[in-house]
Amino acid sequence: MIEFEYARATDVADAVRLARGGRARYLGGGTNLVDLMRQGVEAPTRLVDVSGLPGGIDEAPDGRLLIGAAVRNTALATHRTVRQRYPVLTRAIVAGASGQVRNMATVGGNLLQRTRCPYFSDPDGSPCNRRSPGQGCAAIGGHTRDLAILGASPSCAATHPSDMAVALVALDAVVHVTGAAGERRVPLADLHRLPGDRPDVETVLEPGELVTAVELPPGGSAVRSTYRKVRDRAGFAFALVSVAAAIELDGGTVVGARLALGGVAPKPWRAARAEAVLAGGPATTAAFRAAADAELADARPLAGNAFKVELARRTIVAVLEQLTGGPA
Ligand SMILES: Cc1cc2nc3c(=O)[nH]c(=O)nc-3n(C[C@H](O)[C@H](O)[C@H](O)COP(=O)(O)OP(=O)(O)OC[C@H]3O[C@@H](n4cnc5c(N)ncnc54)[C@H](O)[C@@H]3O)c2cc1C
Ligand code: SF4
Repeated sequence: MIEFEYARATDVADAVRLARGGRARYLGGGTNLVDLMRQGVEAPTRLVDVSGLPGGIDEAPDGRLLIGAAVRNTALATHRTVRQRYPVLTRAIVAGASGQVRNMATVGGNLLQRTRCPYFSDPDGSPCNRRSPGQGCAAIGGHTRDLAILGASPSCAATHPSDMAVALVALDAVVHVTGAAGERRVPLADLHRLPGDRPDVETVLEPGELVTAVELPPGGSAVRSTYRKVRDRAGFAFALVSVAAAIELDGGTVVGARLALGGVAPKPWRAARAEAVLAGGPATTAAFRAAADAELADARPLAGNAFKVELARRTIVAVLEQLTGGPA
């Protein structure tokens, strides 16, 4: 049994003040953090509950959408504007967890949830560099089926688990952050770090920095968008491969495409190479294949996950075909 203090923040400044010193952690819905505390992976000395901080889902006059970090996943997925203008986000959220978990989980907690690498949550049996730097990695020479094929390092090849984050990266979301040094904004694509030789440093957040909101640019081109998640079973399974895509067409020509991948990398993976191949080209299956090939050219699968390369290729092509009216 670990002992910790609990404090409920009344506003952002109060939360940041309460999180100073010791091993404090912010508490959103607790659906990830509390599990990890029970497993002995996390041992904060203080929990600062930020689940009641004010903040809803507000539309700015210029069409931007501001989503408070304490908004529950269900509230975001079912919000009318999100369903109409950012369908990729609704689809990504409902592809994750269960109704009960989504009712509790918050936007901030979802983005900052920890990897589901099973060795990571086994502190008594498995060495893990992400949990304890320098300890070694039980996964890379072990069961590799769920691990990354892009962006991994010899220190760690765990994947980032969030479905919502993949959609938000494809939507060019920006995260609002407040810490002791003040407020700043971080593009969501830059929030999570690749592991390198410090997999324990998972984000660019400074200690004690609080995510206060996520900002989406005006919907427009995101209306033709979707999310597809391939997993071992229909419920309670994290992505083997997922694809978030938004595409803008002018007749049979791709004006622009935004693509992100989940389940294949230690962070939500923006598929910038694929986007570059698609932009200005024909909306055909051959072009979609060329885009997927470009993105996956640097894939470095491990012994048990080579299937993910072909799975990612096929899923990218299938999603783009779906958004453009079928194979061409
Ligand atoms: C059975 C099960 C199945 C699941 N399946 C999926 C799935 O398929 N796809 C998927 O995407 N997710 C899945 N999840 C994960 C679930 O979505 C996360 O547990 C949840 O989103 C975390 O949100 P939370 O608010 O409960 O976070 P918490 O557990 O409260 O916090 C998670 C982390 O975020 C930090 N944090 C929280 N809020 C803030 C903030 N505002 N600023 C800074 N740091 C903060 C905490 O300190 C902690 O480190 C599953 C979870 C369970 C239990
Ligand atoms: S892959 Fe990463 S999270 Fe998994 S055991 Fe290795 S170091 Fe830990």
